[in-house]
Amino acid sequence: MAYDLLLTGGRVIDPDGGRDGVADVAVTGGRIAAVGTDLPREDAREVVDASGRLVTPGLVDLHTHVFPGGTYWGIHPDPVAWCSGVTTWVDAGSAGAYGLDALRGAVRGYRVRVPVLLNISAVGLTGLTGESRDLAACDVDLAIHTIAANRDLVHGVKARIDANTVGTHGLAPLRRAVAVARACELPLMVHVGVAPPTIAELLPLLGAGDIVTHCASGIAMGRGGLDPALRRAYDAGVLFDLGHGSGGFAYDVLEAQLAAGMPPHVVSTDLHARSLYGPAFDLPTTMAKLLAVGLPLGQVVAAATSAPARALGLPAGTGTLAVGAPADLAVFAAERGDFPLADVHGQLRSAPLRLRNEATYLAGRLLPPSLPAPPPPWVPLTPAQRDALTRRDRLIRDLLTTPLVTPDGLAEQFPRP
Ligand SMILES: [Zn+2]
Repeated sequence: MAYDLLLTGGRVIDPDGGRDGVADVAVTGGRIAAVGTDLPREDAREVVDASGRLVTPGLVDLHTHVFPGGTYWGIHPDPVAWCSGVTTWVDAGSAGAYGLDALRGAVRGYRVRVPVLLNISAVGLTGLTGESRDLAACDVDLAIHTIAANRDLVHGVKARIDANTVGTHGLAPLRRAVAVARACELPLMVHVGVAPPTIAELLPLLGAGDIVTHCASGIAMGRGGLDPALRRAYDAGVLFDLGHGSGGFAYDVLEAQLAAGMPPHVVSTDLHARSLYGPAFDLPTTMAKLLAVGLPLGQVVAAATSAPARALGLPAGTGTLAVGAPADLAVFAAERGDFPLADVHGQLRSAPLRLRNEATYLAGRLLPPSLPAPPPPWVPLTPAQRDALTRRDRLIRDLLTTPLVTPDGLAEQFPRP
């Protein structure tokens, strides 16, 4: 048999390869063997009919927090990955130098791929916030040393810059993060939030290839419209990442940016213990919010595959269906309709399309259903969220005992506005 797996007749969107059309995808030895029309069925050990479905590279989520047990924010990625199509989860600063070994240990236990951004603060996101209030924790030499010893895992630097995180230190933690990123020749991702410092003060410190996350949050909008510092940063080559999260995404700000010709380069969830149960939910839901403001599907898929892979210089084969790439694949039912979706402020827009993940393959192997752990006790859930979790757990337990049932309908088990 030439192929281990053949997905036939799906609409294949592979922005990296410039492909958008009906095609078959063949997998051999965990890698993409061929993408083309009418690949021979008889040459495949397993044939999966993907007609009427959307087939994309496994999604790459540029901003997540997947260090549960070591941080306030962490969630386990696998119970979300198998029903969302996300095969690469970039952990954005959960760990600094002190926690990186423990994060590495956690990552070893995951099925999905987890590249890491090292927090400039050595204590990372152990607590709710405030990790850079003690400047001693923002140790440039220690961070450089830690990255040098962990080049396989660390693909960038993360700094959270807002009043709660930096206290009275203003731009000092950011200046240190820039120093580390430049010394290590890695991109820097900066989280923007409530001033001080203002984004007008912090954005000029970033350069081409650095990333601003929560790019369309409320703080990007001044009284007179978009902060002009955004335009200058965008034109200078700073990458805009959505970073939805629990507070980082406002439709009106995104729409102002689109009107100004500044669409986000990357769409990410900032998925963590406070955004997983809404308002972000998962990456396909977050992608649908970009469709709701009028971005075309191909551009949105690029923002969740090739663009984040390029932004961090992730290993060749990430976020692409190029022949020889690891066969990370996502299969979606694309349902047309009118799907109201909320931002973090409860503003609603209607998505014309909803992506419901039906299968997720990592290196050619189907990710099996997996049951999420209950949320940690410090995460408050509404009664509606608790009911939804109970329903979802029951559904997954059923799947685990009757493996032939497909995961249809799981997404609807979450409460939606
Ligand atoms: Zn985050």
